[in-house]
Amino acid sequence: SELLKISGLHASIDADGAPKEILRGVDLVIPPGEVHAIMGPNGCGKSTLSYVLAGRQDYEVTAGSVLFKGEDLLAMEPEERAAAGIFLAFQAPVELPGVNNANFLRTAVNAVRRARNAPELDAVGFLKAVRAATKNLSMADDMLKRNVNVGFSGGEKKRNEVLQMTMLQPTLAILDETDSGLDVDALRIVAEGVQNLRSPDFSALVITHHQKLLDYLGPDRVHVMAKGRIIRSGGPELARQINEEGYAAFLREAA
Ligand code: ADP
Ligand code: MG
Ligand code: MG
Repeated sequence: SELLKISGLHASIDADGAPKEILRGVDLVIPPGEVHAIMGPNGCGKSTLSYVLAGRQDYEVTAGSVLFKGEDLLAMEPEERAAAGIFLAFQAPVELPGVNNANFLRTAVNAVRRARNAPELDAVGFLKAVRAATKNLSMADDMLKRNVNVGFSGGEKKRNEVLQMTMLQPTLAILDETDSGLDVDALRIVAEGVQNLRSPDFSALVITHHQKLLDYLGPDRVHVMAKGRIIRSGGPELARQINEEGYAAFLREAA
């Protein structure tokens, strides 16, 4: 069975009034409980794929389909996708001055719980859950009292993002780490966050070129993307091959 099934997905972005096709027939299947990685040269469409899955407005899907738990993901609003269990970690987390981090998180968690017909968490219940999560992530409690991401260091933003993921309990987490220049500590935070959630009800799609992150995660499958398509899929050895040999051989083969 499949959690996510992407078939022949084409998507364009409006570039100064003219549509520019970026995804050119993506095929990808993620079964429940698996961690998949996508690697690919800069500009091949990795971030675009994650934005299209999360439902960002700037992109137009021109062909293909995406089924999530058997349902038409592309017909859902972004909030419905989140409620259905999709989590997208942003490359550049937004700072929200004046918005308390704990309140923000509780609102997000309860929106998802409402949509899943689960009882909302009251202040006490939420605090209990979030304290357990922050402890697990070695996060200082005072980060909950601060404004969302305001003045957070890179590592703190990463921890906060992993905290959001942990609290929202997604069925599919999409982590786009490609251009974020993560240091070793941040990689470990992300890796531990994902590993803590690992279960038959949790899958992840990790976009990365960091061999170290993949070493931590031990992905079930690695996909190589080029020019808006998945051109090759394999096991973790594919990532090692790319890190040793680069993309040239794959690109020649695909051409
Ligand atoms: P990746 O994440 O693999 O580096 P992206 O999905 O970010 O690639 O970008 C894919 C392609 O789409 C690139 O050629 C990029 O320049 C182009 N692109 C992305 N956003 C826009 C935009 N707003 N207008 C025009 N082109 C864009
Ligand atoms: Mg890029
Ligand atoms: Mg990118």
